[in-house]
Amino acid sequence: MSILLNALKRLVSDTLSLLLPAHCPVCGEQLLEQEKFVCTACRYRAPMTNFWREPDNPMARKFWGLLPIERASAFIWFIEESRWRDLIHTFKYRKGWLAAQRMGEWYGAEMMRAGALEGIDLIIPVPLHWRKRLARGYNQSEYIADGIARSSGVAVDKHSVRRTRNNPSQAQRSRNERWDNVEGIFKVVRADRLRARHILIVDDVFTTGATISSCAEAIIEACEGDVRISIATLAVSKRALGDF
Ligand SMILES: [Zn+2]
Repeated sequence: MSILLNALKRLVSDTLSLLLPAHCPVCGEQLLEQEKFVCTACRYRAPMTNFWREPDNPMARKFWGLLPIERASAFIWFIEESRWRDLIHTFKYRKGWLAAQRMGEWYGAEMMRAGALEGIDLIIPVPLHWRKRLARGYNQSEYIADGIARSSGVAVDKHSVRRTRNNPSQAQRSRNERWDNVEGIFKVVRADRLRARHILIVDDVFTTGATISSCAEAIIEACEGDVRISIATLAVSKRALGDF
């Protein structure tokens, strides 16, 4: 019963927050009518990487010699102590799915403008293990993918790849351990739908690249190499690219 009651409470508070005047999640200022989600001033000052405009960027270079990734980009820098970082952290908590979707929409629009989504046939969000998805109630990467789909018209496929292992937190691990930790955690269940297509794999934050690489590898193997892969994440830390 308490689960139902909580769900009802959440629904009421979510509905109320949609009706009340919206505030910018970055600076906290009340939004003007024509402003969507993040205010104009914050959009202007957003710490964008601009990687999607430059195919030869530090994130794309991380895959050289490891995996045949066509394009790789992140939208914004994951800066410690910044409100943008807080915003991305909220993706994993209550109501965070809406923020994830809106940010995805914005990123999708920027990529469209730069031609960075040309030729992409399908968007695949990095799946969560079903147990984690159940506990959280949603997969934030699915909402980022939905946002990119809204801006681009490209279809999202949430069912062809599954996460078969719920890997423990990566935070306390060394770089090598992180790579071992995610090996073989994804399984492609419908390779026929992915074969010969250009797939954009979407995730929230690029840290070591281990998880998204493992996902890409599973798809490439399942399609016996007959697939093209690009990668888009909403954020990347400078540290992640620096120590490469
Ligand atoms: Zn703002």
